Amino acid sequence: MKTLILAGGGHAHLFVLEALRRAPRPDLAITLISPERWQYYSGMLPGWMAGHYQLDDCRLDLRTLADAAGINFIEDSLIGMNADKRCVCLSDGRHLVYDLLSLDTGSETDVAWLAELGERLLPVKPLGRFVAAWPAIRAAAGAQPGYRLVIAGGGAAGAELALAASRACAAHVTLLTGDSGLLPRHNRRTRHRIAAALLDAGIEALVQRGAGSPAGLVLKDGRQLDADCVIAATGARAPVWLSVARLALDVAGYVAVDATHRSLSHPEVFAAGDVCARSDTLLARSGVHAVRAGPVLAHNLFAALDGRPLKPYLPRRWSLYLLASGSREAVASWGPLSGAGRWVWRWKDWIDRRFMHRFTLGALPTQAKSKLPQCALKQQSNPPKESPP
Ligand SMILES: Cc1cc2nc3c(=O)[nH]c(=O)nc-3n(C[C@H](O)[C@H](O)[C@H](O)COP(=O)(O)OP(=O)(O)OC[C@H]3O[C@@H](n4cnc5c(N)ncnc54)[C@H](O)[C@@H]3O)c2cc1C
Repeated sequence: MKTLILAGGGHAHLFVLEALRRAPRPDLAITLISPERWQYYSGMLPGWMAGHYQLDDCRLDLRTLADAAGINFIEDSLIGMNADKRCVCLSDGRHLVYDLLSLDTGSETDVAWLAELGERLLPVKPLGRFVAAWPAIRAAAGAQPGYRLVIAGGGAAGAELALAASRACAAHVTLLTGDSGLLPRHNRRTRHRIAAALLDAGIEALVQRGAGSPAGLVLKDGRQLDADCVIAATGARAPVWLSVARLALDVAGYVAVDATHRSLSHPEVFAAGDVCARSDTLLARSGVHAVRAGPVLAHNLFAALDGRPLKPYLPRRWSLYLLASGSREAVASWGPLSGAGRWVWRWKDWIDRRFMHRFTLGALPTQAKSKLPQCALKQQSNPPKESPP
């Protein structure tokens, strides 16, 4: 029996689980590994913070999805792998060997220059940790007059979080965009619209960089920006464990893949979403590409196991981004085009809910679980510390 490991319950793997629900593979031993059972949908989190959604509207239960797909679920994290030995290491010390591995573990928040903040720092990823911490921040802001909340990061996530936070709590909110300014990858009208929404919400937007200090941030111009909490949405960085995985990586440390999302160095490894970098084209790290690559990944994993031809993922020239901009309003950004208003929010709400509904299970029957062969599971008495075997 061949062993397929799905590492991470990211957007692309949701399509693999869906494919397995529709066409079960009892001939394969398939395991999904995720640090927690919940997969949060980042596009709806600003809406959750602003009070438009319940938490259950914005998260999927991976354990239930794995059950319905008839596969094994392990609640743990990969902390290393050795691609030459076809082996992944989990934080509890287990080593799992595979015939085929698919990585959809996302990216990490780059907080290198904010580390001095200590307890005042809250990176937006992992999303589970952010979601757990947010209610306490909102409560602290309500209880402490003059509470200062800084959102670091001028991309779509930073702007959406700042707007949602200012709506949700009584804090004085500042958005620190970094040197490249607000929404550098979006068109001019979208930038103006979001800048106007920030102004309306009373959010101060500072176009400069800052470094963490024990009391807040030291800005590039030398000013001190005091902060009770700094939420970091400062862009992505590759997971550190990839650096010792023996896989071909791009210069930034992401898994280098071809158009079929197969590793350039190890044909039995696939990767999709934020964790990978395409060698043939530049793909933005966004949920849009993680979602669109999903059905292609699902096809390619089973095609690779069955010896059938693989398909390429062909990204469209422009991707549609719908950015929550406040009280049930949103801004649409698509290449050079922009739109805004309540109708954009309704459109976003419809797309997001439809996505969640697609993967939410209710009455679907549970498939018989595939077996995890003993040879794939070697219990280690001492968890590996640094490099995998
Ligand atoms: C607030 C916010 C709003 C956003 N809004 C949008 C938007 O509107 N549109 C858009 O296109 N993009 C948006 N993004 C970006 C988007 O979230 C990411 O690009 C997208 O989530 C990447 O998907 P992914 O499948 O690669 O990984 P993720 O969705 O990050 O999923 C990775 C999964 O892997 C798991 N995992 C992580 N490490 C390990 C490990 N070591 N072992 C096992 N499992 C692991 C995680 O728990 C998670 O379940 C937003 C981001 C944020 C923070």
